[in-house]
Amino acid sequence: MSFLETPIEYLKGVGPMRAQALQRELNIYTYGDLLEHYPYRHVDRSKVSTISEITAEDNYVVLRGVISDMHTVNNGRTDRLSARLSDSTGTIELIWFQGIKWVKESLRPDVEYLVMGRPSEYNGRLNLAHPDLERIADQEAPTMKYIPIYSTTEKLKTKGLSSKGIAKLTESLLRQSVGLIPETLPADVVLKFRLPTRANALEVIHFPNNLHDLAVAMQRMKFEELFFLQLDYQYAKHQRTKLTTGNIFSVVGNYFHRFYNERLGFELTGAQKRVVKEIRADMRSGHQMNRLLQGDVGSGKTLVALLCMLIAADNGCQSCLMAPTEILASQHYDTISRWVEGLGLRVELLSGSLKASQKRKIKERLKNNEIDIIIGTHALIENDVIFSHLGFVVIDEQHRFGVEQRSKLWSKSVIPPHILVMTATPIPRTLAMTLYGDLDCSIIDELPPGRKPITTIHGTDADRLSVFGFMRKQIAQGRQIYVVYPLIEESEKLDLKDLMDGYESISRAFPMPEYQLSIVHGQMPAEAKEYEMARFKRGETNIMVSTTVIEVGVDVPNATVMVIENAERFGLSQLHQLRGRVGRGGEQSYCILMTKDNLSHSGKERIRTMVESCDGFRIAEADLKLRGPGDIQGLQQSGILQLKLADIVNDEPIVRAARESVQQILEEDHNFEKIEHVCLKQYLKQNKRGIAWGKIS
Ligand code: ADP
Ligand code: MG
Repeated sequence: MSFLETPIEYLKGVGPMRAQALQRELNIYTYGDLLEHYPYRHVDRSKVSTISEITAEDNYVVLRGVISDMHTVNNGRTDRLSARLSDSTGTIELIWFQGIKWVKESLRPDVEYLVMGRPSEYNGRLNLAHPDLERIADQEAPTMKYIPIYSTTEKLKTKGLSSKGIAKLTESLLRQSVGLIPETLPADVVLKFRLPTRANALEVIHFPNNLHDLAVAMQRMKFEELFFLQLDYQYAKHQRTKLTTGNIFSVVGNYFHRFYNERLGFELTGAQKRVVKEIRADMRSGHQMNRLLQGDVGSGKTLVALLCMLIAADNGCQSCLMAPTEILASQHYDTISRWVEGLGLRVELLSGSLKASQKRKIKERLKNNEIDIIIGTHALIENDVIFSHLGFVVIDEQHRFGVEQRSKLWSKSVIPPHILVMTATPIPRTLAMTLYGDLDCSIIDELPPGRKPITTIHGTDADRLSVFGFMRKQIAQGRQIYVVYPLIEESEKLDLKDLMDGYESISRAFPMPEYQLSIVHGQMPAEAKEYEMARFKRGETNIMVSTTVIEVGVDVPNATVMVIENAERFGLSQLHQLRGRVGRGGEQSYCILMTKDNLSHSGKERIRTMVESCDGFRIAEADLKLRGPGDIQGLQQSGILQLKLADIVNDEPIVRAARESVQQILEEDHNFEKIEHVCLKQYLKQNKRGIAWGKIS
């Protein structure tokens, strides 16, 4: 057992009771864990404010004064402890809601304290709730200019482990650690980026002498976190490409050229050309491709996928395209069979609604290499679907396909097929770099020319009548409309009631027989849903009222208005997805975001972002900044949320540096034979992080 793995219990001043509390409250089990319990801020004790000068806008203040008038206030239900802090310029209230007994016993009136915290305003007066306190007389090391502030809990405080108590433990641990904190990064990397040693960085991060050193130490520890995260991902990817061979598509032949010259009829956008080139390079490489294709709705992903299928056909291979729903599969089938008409390609749809005998026939032909392109849902990965020469697989809207389903594809062919996963939910670049470190990523960041941007409008209840009026006008012009309600899982019943109430009021405002409505929600049987969607798609209904089930890819070019109710309850990326349902035909389209009146600050920001921008990547970046990465799909298992210091939004340069440095090592020394890389081999051997490798294929 190394020094850093020593159980925290053995640290002088801890013992079994405190050890148990540290484990329970802060997940601190070992010496190493304590050193990685970083301060969330440092307070410059030389920058003491006076009580009269602070305001509610101050983020964090340090005051110096005397405490008096301590008393418990009871509002009938809960107790709170109130006290007064005074300096020569005034007084401010200090408040505690928890740990009252302990605070009362430990605070001394009439002695001087350093009091630190974040001021807030209540009834027009400032107070500090749960401040950090330090008796001036207790300052053993007045040379220490910056006081580290640690997160702790009321339980720990009652055991003497306030922020200050933790600082004390950490300080004594650091004193014992001299010479015992090993370097984890390879020596060449440390040298290249001129990083401080791990031991030094850990010391400085807790007890800096100046802010410059602190910044350097933070960079070093962030780099370390990101480096090992990247190593996990990139190594997995490296293993995968090394261990698999791929079909080599060496020619671009007749199918591709004839389609391009005779059928296409417009220029590819620059972004489409670039992406096709990227995919081509993969398909020639001899390794199996695993690529994520990101692009806004309507950016032309499906067309890119088709071009690749044509190349597969030119090289004697079959392709398959999987969509998340029957309706989307049949939509793709219609589009693709129209595109390739006259080229002599055999395209089929394996639909759930086919008779058993028809299905059997299609499967038979697939096996006999009598079908070139097959389109369907996940029914395509059933064991009884056997291909003759499967070379290329397209998966539309990746988040609907599970890991296992994807891995089943591999067994469909002796040589694993190239895989292209398409998604219209853009992932911010930094995140993609981290999250999909083991996948290659192509981006279509340009829309075909001539698209009219969707006009986005914010409305509240007061605007409802004019919104209805606007909807009537659009319907009178022959257009169709979506009205969407949020569906949040924990309160499905409540949401359904929202939807039903909304449907009621829309039916009153748009009565039959003049108007026809469709309704779709998650609790309807699948056939009923498909039936309603099909009706709307055929133009038989004017308004589609639904929960977010329509989110994925339905194509109704005649729909020009998207009304989103309770828009504040959706994430930005989701709103953007929904908005992408309109603006698919030639008509000007509109998205109306209905919210309650009094939005929170961040609520207003989010709606404003939507109104101002139609760029999916900008919106995804904003979403990440506003909500943090916690809400982003698929992130929970990724390890990113376990990062203690690094922040993938604001530390993009470090993400990049860590990624490049890992790439370089894998290129030059993938067996970790150089003496300075042996540590990486060991790390990978005992890797405890448990990343979900299989996340994509
Ligand atoms: P996505 O799959 O990204 O939503 P699609 O491939 O379905 O986008 O394309 C959306 C529409 O734009 C289709 O009607 C397609 O024919 C058209 N389209 C695609 N690329 C271009 C282009 N370069 N120029 C003009 N129209 C295009
Ligand atoms: Mg599409």
